[in-house]
Amino acid sequence: MDVITKTEFDVKQQLELVQFLDIGLIVIDCQLQIKMWNSFMTNHTAIEAHEAIGQQLFSLLAQLPEDYLRRKFQSVITLQSALNITWQQRPYIFKMNSYRPITSKAEFMYQNIRIIPLMNGNAVVEHIAIAIYDVTEAARSQINFKEQNKQLKLASRIDPLTKLFNRGYWESRLEAEFKRFSRVKSSSVLVMLDIDHFKSINDTYGHQGGDAVLRALGDLLIKQHRITDIIGRYGGEEFGILLLDTTTEKAVTLVQNFTNELEKSTVIYDQQKISITLSFGITEINKDFTSHEQWIDMADKALYQSKQNGRNQLTVLNQE
Ligand code: GH3
Ligand code: MG
Ligand code: MG
Repeated sequence: MDVITKTEFDVKQQLELVQFLDIGLIVIDCQLQIKMWNSFMTNHTAIEAHEAIGQQLFSLLAQLPEDYLRRKFQSVITLQSALNITWQQRPYIFKMNSYRPITSKAEFMYQNIRIIPLMNGNAVVEHIAIAIYDVTEAARSQINFKEQNKQLKLASRIDPLTKLFNRGYWESRLEAEFKRFSRVKSSSVLVMLDIDHFKSINDTYGHQGGDAVLRALGDLLIKQHRITDIIGRYGGEEFGILLLDTTTEKAVTLVQNFTNELEKSTVIYDQQKISITLSFGITEINKDFTSHEQWIDMADKALYQSKQNGRNQLTVLNQE
C-alpha cells in the first residue's frame, strides 16, 4: 500500500476535504469578498461556489443581518480571536431550510456560528472564516423540553376537576398580594364561597353528579371572572376569589351579579337538572392583618355567618 507523503496531501486536497464536511464554510477577505464556499453552502442555498466566489457577502445574501455581522467581523479582526454566535442568541444567521426529518415543526435550520480570524505570516488578519453548524435537532429538543416543563408547571397549579387554580398555587398568589399590599396599599378583596348542602347533592345524584356540579361551577367562575380575579379551589366545595384592586362595594356587586348568573344556569346530569346555591364571605385586606392567613380566617368567618343565617347569601366582615 502506498503511503501518502506530506507533499502528496497538498493544499488542494485539503480544500477538497473541506467540501465534504457537514458544516457550512465560507471564507471572506477583509473587504467581505467571498473567497471560499463549500458544498454544504451550495446544498442549502442552491448557490454554486463559482456564483458565490468573488461576490460581496452582503450583496449575495441580502437577508443577512448586515450591521450585526459587520460588528462581529470588526471585533474578530481587532481582537484577533474567534467568536461564537449560538442559536440561543439568534436562531439562525443564514436562513436555510432544515432537512432534518425529526419534526415537521423545524421550519428552518437552527445554527451555531463560529467566526474565525485567519492570519497571514505577519500575524495580520487577512481573511475571516465563517463556520455554520446545523444544530436543529439539539435546539428543537431543548425547545420541546422547555415547552414540556412549562406545561408540567402549569399542570401542577391547576385543579384537574374544576380547572381553577389549586389551593397551593392560589394561596401563594394570595400571599404575594398580601405582601404587595404592605408596599402599595392598594385595596383588594377576598371572597370565600361554599356550595350549600353539597352533601345532599352527592347523596341524591351520586359522587359523579357532585363532580359534574363542581365542574360546572368552575366553568361559570372562569366565564364570569375578570382578568384581575384569581380563583382557586380552596377545599372540596369551597372556593376563594381574590379580587385585585377592588373595593368591598364593588366586590358585593360582583358577587350579586354572579349569583344572578348562577340562578339562571342549571347543571344537567344524567338527564336531571341540578340547581345549587352558594354562601359567600367577603373581606377586604386590612393593614392590621399580620398574615394572609388572618385574611382568609376573617373571610371564612363571614362565610360561616352566611351559613348560620340560612345560606344562599353574602356576608361582609371587615376589620374595624
Ligand atoms: P353546607 O351548606 O354547610 O356547606 O353543607 P355541605 O353539605 O355543603 O357541607 P359539608 O362540608 O358537610 O359537605 C361537603 C361535602 O363535599 C362532603 C364531601 O364528600 C364533598 N366533596 C368534597 N370534595 C368533593 C369532590 O371532589 N367531589 C364530590 N362529588 N364531592 C366532594
Ligand atoms: Mg358546603
Ligand atoms: Mg364546605
